[in-house]
Amino acid sequence: MKEDCEVFPIIVPVEYGLKTINFFLVRKEKRLLLIDAGIDDELCWGALNKTLNENGFSIRDITEIILTHHHFDHIGLVNRIVQEHPIPVYASPLSIKRLKRDSVFMKNRLAFYERFYQEMGCGELGKKQIQYLNKALEKNKHQALQCEISPITASTFQHFSVLEIPGHAPDHLAFWDKERNWLFSGDLLLEHISSNALIEPDENGNRLQTLIQQRDSLLKCLKLQPEIVFSGHGQVISEPNRLIQLRLERIEDKAERFYQLILTGFSTASEIAETYYKKTYLAQFSLVMSEVVSHLDYLELQGKIKKKQVKGIWHYSAMATHTAH
Ligand SMILES: [Zn+2]
Repeated sequence: MKEDCEVFPIIVPVEYGLKTINFFLVRKEKRLLLIDAGIDDELCWGALNKTLNENGFSIRDITEIILTHHHFDHIGLVNRIVQEHPIPVYASPLSIKRLKRDSVFMKNRLAFYERFYQEMGCGELGKKQIQYLNKALEKNKHQALQCEISPITASTFQHFSVLEIPGHAPDHLAFWDKERNWLFSGDLLLEHISSNALIEPDENGNRLQTLIQQRDSLLKCLKLQPEIVFSGHGQVISEPNRLIQLRLERIEDKAERFYQLILTGFSTASEIAETYYKKTYLAQFSLVMSEVVSHLDYLELQGKIKKKQVKGIWHYSAMATHTAH
């Protein structure tokens, strides 16, 4: 017999491209789990309390918080909930330094981006972004989680299988309810937009190949053939397999477009970004650079392009094409 289980989605509309901030109360037998915790604002706090009240619960009934990844729009209410009602908080072992905003880790991360933008030929724009990140370091200090965070391992939960799905974030996890074939997958898959494979360093400061990770994570989820995907933004996804296929196809299409630009002679990631995205390159600099460089990694992996450093800047070029027989 299936164990008793109910999901109460908390869906908070926002005016920007993400459409909504989603997090989920999941009642499993006598436990009431909170998967993710929205943004730290009154809208999310109000929505959480409303959903609790409507279903006969209060904050005090939540038994634990589980985080899919460390981004601020998924962890916002953790401090507030735990202050009122101290309960365990679980996250990937890779999330902990990020959630605590560990000062050494954050400084190294900043140094990583400084070098990254330099090497990708971003010049002044890169320097501006570093200034912005430097300020954000100070400004967002309050976002650090104050509570103890328990690292999730494969055996932490009886109710869910834990899947590592890096790509959008290095610490990204999904929680799979095998019995119902439901997947709580944070920002891996969104109904209305494709999730950005944000450039990030690993624990040792090496650049992760985030799109290649994202693609592997999508393939991992496709294998499960989930029936419903509860995602971090937008609608709950009722035909996830079709959507995963679309996202995989989009990766191929995008990579091909950048490949064509390289064939026409654009060689640095910043040139490709500026040419392809025009004004968006300025407006959404870090997202655009992630998009371009992560796809270039994928083209490199496929053996279609190679890169060489000239005066400290990476230049990409096409590999000699095989002649057709
Ligand atoms: Zn998100």
